[in-house]
Amino acid sequence: MARHCARCRYRQMGEFFMSHAGDDDALAPETRVVHLGLDPFRFDGFVNPPVVRGSTVLSPTYKDLVGHTGRYSYGRRGNPTSEALQNAVTALEGGDGTVLTPSGLSAISVALLSVVGAGDHLLMVDTAYNPTRQFCTRVLKRMGVETTHYDPLVGAGIADLIRPNTRAIFLESPGSQSFEMQDIPAIVAVAKARGITTLIDNTWATPLFFKPHAFGIDLSIQAGTKYLGGHADLNLGTVSAKGDAWKGLIATHGDMGICISPDDAALGLRGLRTLAVRLARHQASGLEVARWLEASPYVSRVLHPALESHPGHAVWKRDFTGACGLFSLILKPVPEAAVATFFDSLKLFGMGYSWGGFECLAIPFDCSSYRTATRWQAEGPAVRLHIGLEEPADIIADLEQALEKMAAAA
Ligand SMILES: *Cc1c(COP(=O)(O)O)cnc(C)c1O
Repeated sequence: MARHCARCRYRQMGEFFMSHAGDDDALAPETRVVHLGLDPFRFDGFVNPPVVRGSTVLSPTYKDLVGHTGRYSYGRRGNPTSEALQNAVTALEGGDGTVLTPSGLSAISVALLSVVGAGDHLLMVDTAYNPTRQFCTRVLKRMGVETTHYDPLVGAGIADLIRPNTRAIFLESPGSQSFEMQDIPAIVAVAKARGITTLIDNTWATPLFFKPHAFGIDLSIQAGTKYLGGHADLNLGTVSAKGDAWKGLIATHGDMGICISPDDAALGLRGLRTLAVRLARHQASGLEVARWLEASPYVSRVLHPALESHPGHAVWKRDFTGACGLFSLILKPVPEAAVATFFDSLKLFGMGYSWGGFECLAIPFDCSSYRTATRWQAEGPAVRLHIGLEEPADIIADLEQALEKMAAAA
């Protein structure tokens, strides 16, 4: 089905086209993100594709119209701006095709809906992003799909949870808020042996630090809202499919009428160019801050998979090539008023339920009310930090003064 150009790697996949620019997997990922999806001489040499606004696409002749000879058919089905981002993500993920959605959560819902239907059983990791859990327990349940939540540390033991009608296994590693590392190869091996589709929310690692398709996962999801966008000014989702999963994904995405604005596609492309340099900085600063916190007298534990002390460190080291700037910590017990003093004393950290932008963020969290397959046990108040692109010494100084004010208020 793929058609290749003789000069380059230009090829047609389904109804979309793969660009040749940057699509060379012999190059380092840091090089590829700078060029992926670009095709300047299609646009008179302009480096970036234009932001193409349009619903209607005209055909020059009757024959072209009824023969669907054009590269585009209708705005909702893609345009040069969204196509450039799709092609870039497909190449970066090493998949067979990508769909774009208006948010990370819609990427998760369309990916799940492309796989499961009435009468099916879904295995969902207990530590998934909470709105993902809610999509299963509300919408999928109403549609006749039964969800079982499983312990993120289940590994090959996932085999014991499989039923004759188990259709899909959903993973997210590390776990949302609490950062448990899943044994992805062990779970994928069980799924493959039983013909079960696997999906992963790979927002934390991005395809730069973990490559789902290379580990045999069928559908790889990113909340592009986070590091791909990278500037706290965009909601975006991407789903990359490998193999048989692509056909169902593109069909479901089309049937549901999901599309993104060309402006948002352009912001996604702009974010992609600096993804590798930003992640390198988030990683280095995140680790520096995490190590400093580990030594703080006010901190009980730091939940960061790249720290040697983390229970999932060996798994992270085996499967991942890096860590982003998001991690959590458990404070030593203090009254809630002192926790409030800590948060209100922070100067560089904003308080907000997101991450992946250029800036430091902090939130308190408590997973105990919504986890069902595992029990969240924290010996003190839990805090999630996103370490931004600020100077790490300034970040540490800010945390230090806020922790001291907290202790004084305790
Ligand atoms: C933020 C987030 C999402 C959802 O992205 P939205 O664009 O907010 O819908 C999904 N998964 C993870 C892990 C996230 O952090």
